[in-house]
Amino acid sequence: MYPWPVVSNAVLAEALFQLAESLSPGEDRLVLLRAGYAVFDHPRELTGSRRLPETVPLDALPTVTMLRQCQSVDAVQAAVQRLAGPHRPRHAGSRQGFLTAADVAAVLDLEPRLRAQELRGAVHWHTRASDGAATLEMMARACMRRGSSWAVVCDHSRGLACVNGLDEEGVRLQQAAVRAWNRRHGDEMRLLQGLEVEILEDGSLDLPRSRRAGLLVVAAVHTELGDRRDQTGRLLRALEEPGVWALAHPRGRLFARRGGLRANWELVFRQAAAADVALEINGFPRRQDLDAGLAAVAAAAGCSFILASDAHHPRHLEFDRTALALAIQAGVTRGRLLNFLPVFGLEAALDERGLAPF
Ligand SMILES: [Zn+2]
Ligand SMILES: [Zn+2]
Repeated sequence: MYPWPVVSNAVLAEALFQLAESLSPGEDRLVLLRAGYAVFDHPRELTGSRRLPETVPLDALPTVTMLRQCQSVDAVQAAVQRLAGPHRPRHAGSRQGFLTAADVAAVLDLEPRLRAQELRGAVHWHTRASDGAATLEMMARACMRRGSSWAVVCDHSRGLACVNGLDEEGVRLQQAAVRAWNRRHGDEMRLLQGLEVEILEDGSLDLPRSRRAGLLVVAAVHTELGDRRDQTGRLLRALEEPGVWALAHPRGRLFARRGGLRANWELVFRQAAAADVALEINGFPRRQDLDAGLAAVAAAAGCSFILASDAHHPRHLEFDRTALALAIQAGVTRGRLLNFLPVFGLEAALDERGLAPF
């Protein structure tokens, strides 16, 4: 399909992660883990390139150099077995199905019909008001510099899952800041206020209905994610809640940490399509949620999507490219991706749903 090298960054990074996990906790293990992430996050394939990323720790350079010279995946595996320490790798399962930064670049390169530069909306990012690193103004300016014509801030609401989130007063203050931005810069880039709200165990939202008006609510599960029980009911009930714009990182998986929650996804997606709740493709590299496989199932069920960076820093805004790469892999068409809408198109779509924060 795509012209990936035989020994891709995905293969190299996984080898480094496995080697790291085979060692007892300590400095050597950390060095290999860091090297694994450096390779995973490097935007170009290392095979065939002359230099290694500067983010690879010095102590790991000999190992990375040796692995990179392997001519096949089998050779990489053999090297890993030769060098491995006493422990069995534990997290390989929860690292499957993620795109490396080089994969993202390759996928985007080969799909001229869906170009990242044409994304109009920068959706789902955080500010200092919850757990982000920058102010609303800094984040909004960064979105504008990237060419967005609209942007949706989505800080956490304060609740059981997020003590640092916005309370009622915080939401009001942010709303005033959003309005002030739009008075000054609204013609160049329209700012909208969203809120990332917790889906409680019973499927209700951790934000009363009366406080949802004027906000683009993205509902998300952050608790009970390790629970192996089926959570279809919880998600279906959340989709029935009024005033939900999108379901954020639906699975709740995290790279090398957890595979995410279990549900009958087809049923969840059909309900989302019927309720006109968009599904998020979260492009934060350690989330990638929905993944391409589930996004394809959602597209077949008739869902629309938001591509989210889940940025907690201006630098992270480009993670919407990862989300776009996942959408491309899933075969989602442009008309289903809300981020490609111009401002007036978004306005019309929100109006139709009775969500009109303009
Ligand atoms: Zn979240
Ligand atoms: Zn978030």
